[in-house]
Amino acid sequence: MNEKNTYDVIVVGAGSVGTPAAMFLAAEGLRVLLLEGYASPGQGSNKAAIGGVRATHSDPAKILLCQKSLEVFTTWEERTGVDVGWKPGGYCFPVYTGGLRDQLQGILPMQKKFGLDIDWLDADGIAQVVPGIERRGLLGGTLSPRDGQVSTLKASVAFQREGQRLGVDLHVKEPVVGYAVNSGKIEGVRTEKNIYFAPRVVIATGADAISHGRMLNAHFPVTPDSHEAGISAPVKQFLPPLVVDMHEGPEGKTANFYFGQVHSGQIIFCYTPKKAFLGHNRENLSEFMPVLASRLTTLIPRLRNLLIRRTWRGLYPMTPDGRPILDWVPGAEGALAAVGMCGQGFMLGPGVAAQVTAMIMGRPGLLPPEILSTLSLSRNFGATPSEALA
Ligand SMILES: Cc1cc2nc3c(=O)[nH]c(=O)nc-3n(C[C@H](O)[C@H](O)[C@H](O)COP(=O)(O)OP(=O)(O)OC[C@H]3O[C@@H](n4cnc5c(N)ncnc54)[C@H](O)[C@@H]3O)c2cc1C
Repeated sequence: MNEKNTYDVIVVGAGSVGTPAAMFLAAEGLRVLLLEGYASPGQGSNKAAIGGVRATHSDPAKILLCQKSLEVFTTWEERTGVDVGWKPGGYCFPVYTGGLRDQLQGILPMQKKFGLDIDWLDADGIAQVVPGIERRGLLGGTLSPRDGQVSTLKASVAFQREGQRLGVDLHVKEPVVGYAVNSGKIEGVRTEKNIYFAPRVVIATGADAISHGRMLNAHFPVTPDSHEAGISAPVKQFLPPLVVDMHEGPEGKTANFYFGQVHSGQIIFCYTPKKAFLGHNRENLSEFMPVLASRLTTLIPRLRNLLIRRTWRGLYPMTPDGRPILDWVPGAEGALAAVGMCGQGFMLGPGVAAQVTAMIMGRPGLLPPEILSTLSLSRNFGATPSEALA
């Protein structure tokens, strides 16, 4: 052990969760090492995300964590002078079926109890916030105006730089290949190049979580599940909210589809294929654009001439119940798992990072114990699924 390789905390994975976690931990005055396998931060699922950020969930843990994330994203530029591409305008769920209307209206009282700004709008109200939306069969929908969108690329760089300014030691192209555990306590990590020591290690390895669980003799039930996204050429600003379309598309019932117009004018979109594509493959599927084009122009016919610039495929790190895992790893005291962010890890990132920091510092965090326990590794993962889309 030498002083150079010894830290207060090691964060493994510089993604949506790990990069802000390292930054918050350094802000506490801790000596922090952030280890990333890729050549720069944010190259895992983070850069695949389309940047939707909302606190309006139906799960209390996600509401509280994302309220913190929204606070971080919306005040970032004012506090640091750095633009993260924040675009207000909210999230809108247009509704075309009585079943979905009852479901969304049913959770409104709970959402309001948590102080969320969300309301039911009639069809005219929805048509005002989503100009050009198909009116046939439109029953109304919900709008949560304080939610919005952020550039995932800008946010990653902003958190990385702020972290480094605060003293984070960032090592890229240095994947962790093992963990040192002695007498039930974590002592450090091994990379291909070196060994580093710390009494606390945060595992924020996204879609690769399961292999890190194995290295620690633990089971992190996280399965990578591919999703595709794309972006158009810029068009004149016309669409304030990010829209989640849950009505039946040509490919069948279950696939949801969400899109918005980013601060620089491009339409950005993503959809959940009806059949899950499990695994790490990030190659585009040929079915994506035809399905996507049909969904988009069915909902907003005026988008039929939109020029699509680029599509990509990324991974949702899914848990069986759609909730993240945020818990100490059994048998490795001092190792904290912050994995399984599903389709919401970008918006959860700063909130999870704040909770991780409180846990490392040994003080109460954003989540009261009874809510934190819903994210534990020992919970019943077969329990009622939480919504997992972005
Ligand atoms: C198409 C698409 C659209 C999405 N849209 C949204 C959205 O609008 N809003 C939203 O909130 N979420 C969205 N998501 C989900 C979001 O991208 C993920 O939930 C989130 O990025 C997961 O964060 P993470 O930090 O857990 O993982 P990542 O961001 O993937 O970070 C994990 C990091 O760990 C590193 N790592 C892994 N193994 C090792 C190792 N051995 N050593 C060192 N480093 C390692 C990886 O390289 C990676 O950089 C979307 C996802 C996709 C695919």
